[in-house]
Amino acid sequence: MIPVFKPLIEQEEIDASRESLELGWLGMGSYVSKFEQKVKEIIGVEDRYVAAVSTGTAGLHIALLVAGVQPGDEVIVASFNCSADFQAIGWVGAEMVFCDCDDDTLELDLERAAELVTPKTKAMIVMDYDCILSDHDAIAAFAEKYKIRIIHDAAHAFGSSYKGKMVGSFSDICVFSHDPVKTITCLDGGTVVVKTEEELKYVHELRLLGMQQPATVMYQNQRAWTFDVERVGFRYHMLNMHAAIGLAQLGKLDVISETRRAASRYYNELLRDLPQVRTPKTDFEGVNPFLYYIRVPAELRDDLRAELKANGVDTGIHWQPGHLFSLWKNAKAGDLSVTDRVGKEILSLPLYSKIPLETVKEVADQVKAFFQRHSK
Ligand SMILES: *Cc1c(COP(=O)(O)O)cnc(C)c1O
Repeated sequence: MIPVFKPLIEQEEIDASRESLELGWLGMGSYVSKFEQKVKEIIGVEDRYVAAVSTGTAGLHIALLVAGVQPGDEVIVASFNCSADFQAIGWVGAEMVFCDCDDDTLELDLERAAELVTPKTKAMIVMDYDCILSDHDAIAAFAEKYKIRIIHDAAHAFGSSYKGKMVGSFSDICVFSHDPVKTITCLDGGTVVVKTEEELKYVHELRLLGMQQPATVMYQNQRAWTFDVERVGFRYHMLNMHAAIGLAQLGKLDVISETRRAASRYYNELLRDLPQVRTPKTDFEGVNPFLYYIRVPAELRDDLRAELKANGVDTGIHWQPGHLFSLWKNAKAGDLSVTDRVGKEILSLPLYSKIPLETVKEVADQVKAFFQRHSK
């Protein structure tokens, strides 16, 4: 079976895991510090502060708290998003407001978002869906106009750049995920990028039980035994072994993004002329693609998935829209007609680091064969 995702675990990751285990300090320690420094180096700016956390979802929870979101506040988020974002909004007791996405880019539709702003709106989560980034300049202007905080969910966008600036270098609060399927995995992990030292200190307290021991102590594989606790905190810190694996992955960022870009471009080229298939409208320049998605006629998607599966090709659905889940069906929402359509048409094809181009061709040929048989 050709999988939709496949982790790039090679000798470097295995060696790094062993070294971190042999160090004998399993919790947050020196590897975490090195991982944060490396992420900061890749983002390439001095005026941002990076904190590693246990998962991207934990990062989103922390980001909402840093943004000052409280029970009763409203948070605008695209319904076409990962459930992690919706759960994190629930954890801070805020009210979710579902917004539609743009039919071409699949990013949050800012015009629709403007219609959803109320005096209770405290923040907006903006997520970069895969290979086409959101219009971050327009988002910054939006935040300024409505005086709200922006949480940039960049779970798909590590190593991508927007107008020549690395993702993570320009947002209000930025969150990455390094979960098992993301472009850079730590097995599980996340990164929160904030703008001030005060915010970083708050993130440090939130990620480790509210403890006010400075991170620099643990970064030397030691513990401070006396400290104060002033606020509620969670157990959201990153572990040494996870950071060690992440560091090995960061060392391969170039080959990871090059091979993903090449595969995505090849898919686009091979599938471009199929009238029933919509491919991402981008040349993938400057991005590190997480998925390769297409849009197909809703009534044919299940048949296509079944046929591909029968022929040894796995596919995925990113995502079912949030407002269709039982838990969130009564959440506040604007018009979601684009999201409804996209949710029925979207399909992820196999994409992973170092995927052979012959594999891409094999998958694309099967998609083509299906549509040649199903064309009127
Ligand atoms: C993966 C993902 C998350 C959650 O990150 P985890 O590390 O899995 O907790 C959040 N948002 C988006 C868009 C994601 O793809």
